[in-house]
Amino acid sequence: MKSKKPKSQHEQVFTGMAVGAGVAIGVVYRHDSRSNVHIREQAISAAKVRSEQHRLLEAAARASGEVQKLQGEAKRLPGAAGEEIGYLLDAYQQMLSGSRLIRGVQKRIATDQVNAEAAVMREIGLMVEAFAAMENRYLAARVDDIREVGRRLVESLTGKKTRALANLPKNAVIVADELSPADTATLDPAHVAGLVTLVGGVESHTAIVARSLGLPAVVADDVILDEAQNGQAIIVDGATGTVILSPSPKSLATYRKRKAEILREQKSLRKLTAVPAVTKDGVAIKLMANIELPSEIESILDAGAEGVGLFRSEFMFMNRKDLPSEEEQYKNISDVVRQMQGKPVTIRTLDVGADKLGAAFDMKPGPNPALGLRAIRFSLRRKKLLLAQLSAILRASVHGPVRILLPMVSTVDEIREVKKIMGRVVSRLKRRGVKLPDPLPPLGVMIDIPGAALAADALAAESDFFAIGTNDLTQYTLAIDRTDEQVAYLYNPLHPAVLRLIQFSAEAAAAARIPVSVCGEIAGDHRLTALLLGFGISELSMSAASLPRVKKRILALNLSAISGRVRRITSESDPRRLKDLVAELSG
Ligand code: PEP
Ligand code: MG
Repeated sequence: MKSKKPKSQHEQVFTGMAVGAGVAIGVVYRHDSRSNVHIREQAISAAKVRSEQHRLLEAAARASGEVQKLQGEAKRLPGAAGEEIGYLLDAYQQMLSGSRLIRGVQKRIATDQVNAEAAVMREIGLMVEAFAAMENRYLAARVDDIREVGRRLVESLTGKKTRALANLPKNAVIVADELSPADTATLDPAHVAGLVTLVGGVESHTAIVARSLGLPAVVADDVILDEAQNGQAIIVDGATGTVILSPSPKSLATYRKRKAEILREQKSLRKLTAVPAVTKDGVAIKLMANIELPSEIESILDAGAEGVGLFRSEFMFMNRKDLPSEEEQYKNISDVVRQMQGKPVTIRTLDVGADKLGAAFDMKPGPNPALGLRAIRFSLRRKKLLLAQLSAILRASVHGPVRILLPMVSTVDEIREVKKIMGRVVSRLKRRGVKLPDPLPPLGVMIDIPGAALAADALAAESDFFAIGTNDLTQYTLAIDRTDEQVAYLYNPLHPAVLRLIQFSAEAAAAARIPVSVCGEIAGDHRLTALLLGFGISELSMSAASLPRVKKRILALNLSAISGRVRRITSESDPRRLKDLVAELSG
């Protein structure tokens, strides 16, 4: 690690994407994940091919041993961080043992007659090119994992030690091009104050790790890597995306104050955990949590969640080439239901399509996966899959209250078809003598398509509850791909069109006397709580971290006093004036 004198002693302010809230005040620790993969290419004779291939296999076995150690270390990272990193390390492990990569390198040693290091770099280069050209963002992002495996192989061949983030100075703010899962596993959370990386979005490893470790984090652009020097003072504001190098005494004072305020607020919010979420005028609101992994249960219970409002079941289908059996799904779901100790768990059936499950299905994604065969459409095409999932959920429902949620429903017929299939599953389970609850779990639908919102009255007649998925509702209403950074400036859940669809769905649910929740990201934004409750929403489901602040807002709210302002918002069609009106309600 170079330790040059800082280029500038003056304060420098950078703005990036805020991915993990909080304020860090510390010192720069630079980390270059792509450095030092310099190898010497050597031609070898045909007679040396076998021994070189043997050397490669030995190096792969050593690298695999190191990854195994990291897998052990990853287990001590809390919650989603440990699990996320664990999955990726599993993938490294697979690549290092008899995979297409290792076979490819072995072949290349023979065909190109080069040393193992050169063969690794050539093979990795070709794989990286092929992956980077893929249109699927998820697969394109796997390029970094392939590079990391290549780097480990070369290090193992040359005997050079792998980098580690284990011996960091106190209050280190890691400034890196990116953090690989392997880097993260060696990271000592007690010494890290914050993270600044160049790569990654709100769903990147950096973001997931930062949120689970409660670290302030910003994704910035590469100017900061040119400027930041080891040991330089740095401030990271994970709420606004601001990074300050060599902060002035004034900035230091401001941010010290801000940090103290955050700590005070966190302490006071913790006291609200057991307080029921009731408005000043006595309206009780259900505050639920969204989860993606069973390991999140502990933190959502700690945060005071009254149940799981959205259990994204996709995790059981990801990072694998086969499908989970009914038994495996049953085990996963019943674990969650049991751990929730009698609190309701809303399980959403699979919400992806052939674009994400390509490996497990022999199915080509359509020309536009976002508008294609996905979510409930996919499940209804693959009935065996739906049968297994419904059967697993129904069996798990004897362990505690469960609700079944169908994603991306656009017609009443889809609900009716699911009901028919559920009837078949129930009869089959009864024939097998399996105990089922009476009544059976409620069956609800996501309102995440504009057409579903506009036809909400018809859907309500066939549904036991609604969950409004504002993330997709916004995407489909405004024709904005929610993962496309180029049009992110237009992604606005507060667009009058989206708000009207939410209001319309809430009214349809009220008329049919069925419960309605919001489980998109806006449910966790305390500035929008008053508006959503004003629409008649009585249940909000969000990530555990957002729950205490939303509760604080509810406790301070007098719903009857804001009804006039909510009406004005619903009749306002100018987005700018609407923004001002919403701001007035934000509390
Ligand atoms: C939504 O679309 O608002 C939602 C909650 O589902 P997801 O984010 O999983 O698509
Ligand atoms: Mg959705």
